[in-house]
Amino acid sequence: MNSVRVLSLQAGDCLNLAAITERGAAWRVQAYPAGFSLLLHPTRGPVLFDTGYGAPVLGAMRRWPGVLYGLVTPVRLRPQDTARAQLAVMGFAPQDVRHIIVSHLHADHVGGLRDFPQATFHLSRAAYGPLQGLRGLRAVRRAFLPEALPDDFEARTEWLNFAPAPPELAPFPEVADVFGDGTVQAVPLPGHAPGMVGLLVPEAEGLTVLAADAAWSVRAGREARPVHPVARAAFFDPAQEEASGARLRAFLQANPRARLHVSHDTPEGWR
Ligand SMILES: [Zn+2]
Repeated sequence: MNSVRVLSLQAGDCLNLAAITERGAAWRVQAYPAGFSLLLHPTRGPVLFDTGYGAPVLGAMRRWPGVLYGLVTPVRLRPQDTARAQLAVMGFAPQDVRHIIVSHLHADHVGGLRDFPQATFHLSRAAYGPLQGLRGLRAVRRAFLPEALPDDFEARTEWLNFAPAPPELAPFPEVADVFGDGTVQAVPLPGHAPGMVGLLVPEAEGLTVLAADAAWSVRAGREARPVHPVARAAFFDPAQEEASGARLRAFLQANPRARLHVSHDTPEGWR
């Protein structure tokens, strides 16, 4: 069977202080891409891993309390930047997308979910549980804008089914074979947000590791680079976040030819 091809793209960006994302970096405002990936799957068609920003996030940010989200992380998104618009340029209609794997439910990752009415959502049950009932300020504090989720979100969700990971995936303790065919494997990277997952995707050229927000940069994903305490305080579970980062680095060391893509940095090429 042909393998999957991964294209990592971005739908908008957000502004943040560099010193917050990496300890010791300058106190200047930097634009961070809101990355997502398009997986060209031989039998499932175009599969998305997250969506980046989308129109519903901009809408929510115009109203209280979503406006606070925009104050903390100003968002730039033009109509042609959305995942839906970019897929249209490639010749894919919204209904062609049958599967969206969601790393975690932060607004910069799920902003485009409403744009794909035929998609089934694949995510960890642990990503939704702690946020599910949150509304208003309590949701915004967790970078969760419930308006971004389609009204039938739960009905269209298939929870990832985790099983103990085989030794070659060490030190990841568990893995979910998203389509049951070994083409896309989800591994837990919790901490930044509850139940966050990354993907391991074997491509013709080698293994692509999509690590979502387990690191702010590719460099930080490969070498330990602590974030500012302010950013650390925003993690859902700082201790889990640290453990996930250490697992990711150990996995990359054991798989030196793999390429690493994180959501908010330029994707790495083949090594
Ligand atoms: Zn993010």
